[in-house]
Amino acid sequence: MNPITKAIRIQTAHTGEMEHSTPMFLTSSFCFDDAEAMRAAFADETDDNIYSRFSNPGVKEFTDKMVALEGAEAGYATSSGMSAVFASFMALLKKGDHLLSCNSIFGSTHSVIKKYLPNYGIEFSYVSADKPDEWEAAIRPNTKMIYIETPTNPGLAIIDLERVSALAKKYKLILNVDNCFATPVNQRPIDFGAQLVVHSATKWLDGQGRVLGGVIVGKKELIQEIYLFCRSTGPALSPFNAWVLSKSLETLDVRMERHAKNALHIAKALEHHPKISFLKYPFLPSHPQYHIATRQMQNGGGIVCFDLTGGLESGRTFLNSLQMLSLTANLGDTRSIASHPASTTHAKLTEEERLATNITAGLIRISVGLEHVDDILGDIFQALEKC
Ligand SMILES: *Cc1c(COP(=O)(O)O)cnc(C)c1O
Repeated sequence: MNPITKAIRIQTAHTGEMEHSTPMFLTSSFCFDDAEAMRAAFADETDDNIYSRFSNPGVKEFTDKMVALEGAEAGYATSSGMSAVFASFMALLKKGDHLLSCNSIFGSTHSVIKKYLPNYGIEFSYVSADKPDEWEAAIRPNTKMIYIETPTNPGLAIIDLERVSALAKKYKLILNVDNCFATPVNQRPIDFGAQLVVHSATKWLDGQGRVLGGVIVGKKELIQEIYLFCRSTGPALSPFNAWVLSKSLETLDVRMERHAKNALHIAKALEHHPKISFLKYPFLPSHPQYHIATRQMQNGGGIVCFDLTGGLESGRTFLNSLQMLSLTANLGDTRSIASHPASTTHAKLTEEERLATNITAGLIRISVGLEHVDDILGDIFQALEKC
């Protein structure tokens, strides 16, 4: 079966009542017939569920679908994207190891790397998304993992997955990719050689702004280490959230196709607007890494970003002038969302640090929703008039 069919048809959770849609398994633990069955389960001699911190049928269904969509061997679902990222570091890196990452990564991931990994004796350094030629020189004898996001947030730089994966292979490193922005129906890092893929399921995978969740998929032996870490430390995905997310995956492919279609339309319509100094969208030929994007992605995704000629003040005016688009700290929703990184998510950075990752003072990020594209564009146009 095609992975898209699997995302609709995999049903690991059954009650025996002939239900069509997956039931929800709101239970913290599972029963055994006798002492021997319980002993065997605890000895890992069976796949029986024991306790929902370890496994749960609904969580397994969501995980199995993600494994199929990403073309992975195994997976483990977590309570949020950040717990997935954190578990992928803590289960696989130890004192004295070095993590190589990119300066364009999600803010909380940056905090984990910079503030917490050094407490455990784990070294890190950053390379630039725009300077792939400098990556090889940044690898150290103790480098263990390369961690990247592509497209990057919010700058929409594209990192060449084939190239980084060749580098990881050469030095026997784990390539760990946050695939949150693209989703597996648009880009499959494992096909290009990544060993691990992490997700915030909170974004496009849910797609309707309802629940937090995360998932890690990849090579069986790496996932086993991550599973053991999570089983002991407790960042399990709740059965309710797993049920919501599993239903969401049934429509992921059609949703992402429309998000991308709307986004491309908006990107083309705004590209030469007089109030905009530059606009970035991976599938516009003007994007600096257009050729890499079209090679490794099925479409340009649902995020468009542009810089207002009026800078910081214009960014605030733009947000204040929107009538329909939501001002909220999320992305990947049916509802279009606008954000202004320089005054919010990236306000703590110095101007120099911001510019190093292409976050200009007037940068606006639009998470393009599923409303009629004319309504989204109409709202953006009228707000630009006021800037
Ligand atoms: C939101 C996000 C995360 C963190 O996910 P949460 O579910 O909010 O914990 C990680 N990476 C990227 C790229 C994100 O956008």
